[in-house]
Amino acid sequence: MKPAKFDYYAPGSLPEALALTAQFGDEAKILAGGQSLMPLMNMRLARPGVVIDINRISEMAYISQDGNDALAIGALTRQRAMERSSAVRETFPLLAAAVPYIGHSQIRNRGTIGGSMAHADPAAELPALGLALDAELILASATGQRVVKAEDFFLGQLTTALTPGEILTEVRFPGTIGRWAWGFQEVCRREGDFALVGAIALLDLDGSGACQAARITMFGVGGAPARIPTAEERLVGTTVDSADREAAAEAVSQALDPVSDIHASATYRKQVGGVMARRALEDAIHQANGASRP
Ligand SMILES: Cc1cc2nc3c(=O)[nH]c(=O)nc-3n(C[C@H](O)[C@H](O)[C@H](O)COP(=O)(O)OP(=O)(O)OC[C@H]3O[C@@H](n4cnc5c(N)ncnc54)[C@H](O)[C@@H]3O)c2cc1C
Repeated sequence: MKPAKFDYYAPGSLPEALALTAQFGDEAKILAGGQSLMPLMNMRLARPGVVIDINRISEMAYISQDGNDALAIGALTRQRAMERSSAVRETFPLLAAAVPYIGHSQIRNRGTIGGSMAHADPAAELPALGLALDAELILASATGQRVVKAEDFFLGQLTTALTPGEILTEVRFPGTIGRWAWGFQEVCRREGDFALVGAIALLDLDGSGACQAARITMFGVGGAPARIPTAEERLVGTTVDSADREAAAEAVSQALDPVSDIHASATYRKQVGGVMARRALEDAIHQANGASRP
């Protein structure tokens, strides 16, 4: 399949790219890694009149760590660069461990963090990680920039807070959550496929093992990744023992309201969502107890 006709621009700087997005508005699409946009264009599910290729804007690809263990990642940073970064491994080991679940290495060699966030596939790992880790997204336009929290960015299936004329330039991960105990689980039919259901657990445990705060984030189960407050509340103040984990998993299953599609039924996603959440919690507790990860 070949895409419909389009005009192609390859600006060499962010201001140039922003001038083009201001000029063309919703007629234009940004091309980053092309791993989602090109298949959509080739199948003619997307027909932008203008493609603005940002791959020459090398200043948009960086991983920088600040003194408080926060990370700032340029939108054009390849997923493979995140996977290989010692700064990511040290400050956000959850990110380093979860990024390899995205497709295959060939896809991660081209796919970018910004492209994945902007595309907002409900089964994608990076949007869920952004929500779980309280990421902030920096959106630039010809008239300035704004900062949007992940919880306000993902609005629904393939829908974000980005407006015509805006480019996502950076994703920031605040330092506080990076050191919490974590677990990441997903189920898919074949390695490299999008997740049918996924769960991320983050636990802030005090010295005695009591849970100060918990974050349970689910993906692949609705239009956008979602936290499950009922499950989180069930864990706070407990030692997250097996009964607590089971109760939280049950709360996850009850809270989920997934759709059926060609990949899995709603009933399957509800049930397996609880199982994934329980296993992610088990991983987090094993990690907190110093056990090596299975
Ligand atoms: C076979 C295959 C398997 C895959 N498996 C997975 C998987 O398991 N998990 C997963 O998460 N993903 C998977 N992907 C998708 C992959 O991760 C993509 O890299 C990602 O979805 C999009 O990133 P990209 O840089 O390629 O963006 P592109 O395809 O270039 O762009 C995607 C969308 O985002 C917009 N965009 C891109 N960058 C910006 C920006 N900076 N500002 C504003 N808008 C922007 C584009 O206009 C477009 O609408 C898979 C892809 C393939 C082909």
